[in-house]
Amino acid sequence: MTANAPITQDVLTIPRKLPEGRQNLVGLTRAQLREALIGMGTPEKQARMRVNQLWQWLYHWGVRDFAQMTNLAKAYRAQLDAHFTISLPEVVSKQVSADGTRKYLVRIAGGHEVEVVYIPEEDRGTLCISSQVGCTLTCSFCHTGTQKLVRNLTAGEIVGQIMLARDDLDEWPAPGTGTGDAGPRLLSNIVLMGMGEPLYNFDNVRDAMKIAMDGEGIALSRRRITLSTSGVVPEIARCAEEIGCLMAVSFHATTDEVRDKLVPINKRWNIATLLDALREYPRLSNSERITFEYVMLKGVNDSDEDARRLVRLIAGIPAKINLIPFNEWPGAPYERSDWSRIERFADIVHKAGYASPIRTPRGEDIMAACGQLKSATERARKSRAQIAAETGLS
Ligand code: SAH
Ligand code: SF4
Repeated sequence: MTANAPITQDVLTIPRKLPEGRQNLVGLTRAQLREALIGMGTPEKQARMRVNQLWQWLYHWGVRDFAQMTNLAKAYRAQLDAHFTISLPEVVSKQVSADGTRKYLVRIAGGHEVEVVYIPEEDRGTLCISSQVGCTLTCSFCHTGTQKLVRNLTAGEIVGQIMLARDDLDEWPAPGTGTGDAGPRLLSNIVLMGMGEPLYNFDNVRDAMKIAMDGEGIALSRRRITLSTSGVVPEIARCAEEIGCLMAVSFHATTDEVRDKLVPINKRWNIATLLDALREYPRLSNSERITFEYVMLKGVNDSDEDARRLVRLIAGIPAKINLIPFNEWPGAPYERSDWSRIERFADIVHKAGYASPIRTPRGEDIMAACGQLKSATERARKSRAQIAAETGLS
């Protein structure tokens, strides 16, 4: 915790309550949806068809109102409405950067807030989503790591982030039509690189990604989803088996001594153990490489020797090294490496045969860059608290 302990739970925020007793359908797996419909009285032999119909309305056309589901009988629609809701997390605010990056502040049940970032690029549009409020891990360069975990997001809250971004981008096909000729998608890729450690919320992340990948709905290919982990080794193989998405790992150091400090989960599963798990990741190939994320911290992990050690360590793993210039936050104990240092490091890695892009910070003017997400919210909260104090309202 920093000296000015961030306010992580805004007790003044009143959660948006679901209407009494109605279950939210967003985030249910196909099997859970079937169960829910049968529980409401849908005959078992109709259940499969009803699941398919609802699934298409929810995830292919993005419809939120049962009344619009015109291929269902009116009485059935009314019955659905009496039992269920179609609810997304609430967008509290949206900021758009000069570079087109959009940042959404999203409120979930209980009044907690997470941030979601949409990054448009020439050939793709990437949505960076969160899996937890806060994080149980305490990586020393990450602002999320200074906060305690508040809670895991539900599957509905995770897939809901994708759905609300599609709302904002106006990217649902008109009911009755396919995605067919709509051209390239605005939201084409997902990265689980927002707040939280996705592999510590495995089941909900898996269910949400299964919904996003389902061909009858949002239909994003598993190759367009990247999950970033700090190195929860026992869950890495499970991620391949049960989700099948691409893997990124927050590597950040080339000796256990330094990694223990930067990414303390290294004390539990060290570099050698982590690399063994990554070597076993199925389907590894040049087109399905592991992304090694490497934050550039001045004088800590950015020497030529580090670069050379890095390429020796990962020898044999199809990999791409994403160099992330450190994004500073108030009270951070590190500085960003000089640009010339980052370039030199990239060059050594590149000459060893690995792609080594330097990640351009996006949306800096709206504090949307990696590792900054929560700090922006906290700042806003703090100033609200300060204003309240100044005006004698607190
Ligand atoms: N918990 C997961 C995913 C979320 S963090 C993980 O650790 O992999 C997404 C990426 O941003 C990680 O690689 C993380 O190490 C990096 N990151 C965190 N804080 C940062 C900062 N201040 N500057 C640059 N990158 C940061
Ligand atoms: Fe958690 Fe990832 Fe931040 Fe580490 S880098 S504290 S695992 S969010």
